[in-house]
Amino acid sequence: MTAPRAAHLNFDFDALQHNLQRVRELAPDSSVMPVIKANAYGHGMLAVARALESADGFAVAQLAEAIHLRQHGIDKPITVFQGFRDPSQLEAMVAFRLWPAISQIWQLELLEASQAMQSKAAGLNVWLKVNTGMGRLGLLPGQVEAAWQRIQSLTGVQQSGLMSHFANADDPLHASNQQQLDCFRDLAATCGGLTSLSNSAGIVQQLEPNQNWVRPGIMLYGASPIKDKTAESLGLKPVMQLRAELIAINQLKKGDTVGYGYQWCCPEDMPIGIVNLGYADGYPRHAATGTPIVVNGQMSQLLGRVSMDSIAVDLRNISAAPGCTVEAWGKQISVDVIAEAADTISYELLCRAGCQLDIE
Ligand SMILES: *Cc1c(COP(=O)(O)O)cnc(C)c1O
Repeated sequence: MTAPRAAHLNFDFDALQHNLQRVRELAPDSSVMPVIKANAYGHGMLAVARALESADGFAVAQLAEAIHLRQHGIDKPITVFQGFRDPSQLEAMVAFRLWPAISQIWQLELLEASQAMQSKAAGLNVWLKVNTGMGRLGLLPGQVEAAWQRIQSLTGVQQSGLMSHFANADDPLHASNQQQLDCFRDLAATCGGLTSLSNSAGIVQQLEPNQNWVRPGIMLYGASPIKDKTAESLGLKPVMQLRAELIAINQLKKGDTVGYGYQWCCPEDMPIGIVNLGYADGYPRHAATGTPIVVNGQMSQLLGRVSMDSIAVDLRNISAAPGCTVEAWGKQISVDVIAEAADTISYELLCRAGCQLDIE
C-alpha cells in the first residue's frame, strides 16, 4: 500500500498499444521486447505487460522484477539486463525461464560452475552483453569471441545472443552511434546467434534494421527519445497524465507575493489558483515560473516555487472554479516540455510520478 495522495495519474493504454505499433512500423523485421523496468517507467509493470499482450517478450533490470511478472502469469520471454549475481539467482533464472544478460566474466564462470548447465534440460537462453562504448555493463569487444565460444559449449544453454546499448543515440549527429554500430556488427558477424542493439532512440533512427530483438522503453510511454524532436512529430502518443485539482482561488493585489522565497510578485492585481499537486507527487521542484500547465482545459503557467503539496498557477484570462481539473502533463502538455523546464529528462519525471503506484 502506497500513501494515498490527492494528485492522480491516468493512463491511456490505447496510446501504449499505438506506440507499440509505431515500433513495429519502424522495426518491421525485429521482435520487440518492451522495457518495463522501474515499474514500467512509473506506469505499472503488470498493467503494462497485460496491455502489451502482442509484444514478443519483455525486459526488466532485475531478477525480482522478472519473478514478479512470472508469478502474475506473464509467460513470454523475459530478459533480465543485470543477469544473476550468485548460484541461487542463476537457479531462479532457469526455474522461471528467464533470459539473463551476462556482462562480466565472473557471471560466465558462475554459469560454467553450475551443475544444471551440464544438462539440456536447463534450456537456458542467455544474452552476452558487450560494451561497445556505453562504458556501463558489458564485456570488452576483445573478450567477446572467447566468451561466446565458452557459452556455446554449455549443454544447458539453448539459445544465445549478443546485446549492446547505445550511449548517444538521442543525438543523431553524435559520431559514437556509427562507431558502436560498426563494432557491434563485426562482433555479431563473428559470433552468429541472435542480436539486440536498439533502445527507443536507435529504433526511431532505424540505426540497425537487421537485429532480432529491439528494446523500446521511453517511446512506448509516448515521450521523445530524440533531442529536439517532439514525441508528436515521431507519431507517439502520451500514456501517462499527471493531473490534480484547483483547490483555491486568491485575488491578489499588485506587489503581492506568492510562495516560498517570494519567487512570484504580482505585476498587477490578478487572480491566482492553488493546485493540490507538488513535488511529493513527482512534479519537479525545479520547474520555474512560466512552466506551462493546463487549467480547466486552458493553457496557463506555473507561478513561483513548487511546494511539497501545492503549486500556484496564473488565472489571468482563464475561466476556472475550485474543483476543476489541472493537467501537469499528458495529452495537452508533453512530459518532455516539463522535463526541459526542470532541466531533466522525461524518464525521471515518469518514474518519480509513478512512485505513488503499487507495483501492481
Ligand atoms: C532502459 C534500457 C532500454 C530502454 O531504453 P529507452 O531509451 O527507454 O528506449 C534498452 N536497453 C537497455 C539495456 C536499457 O537499460
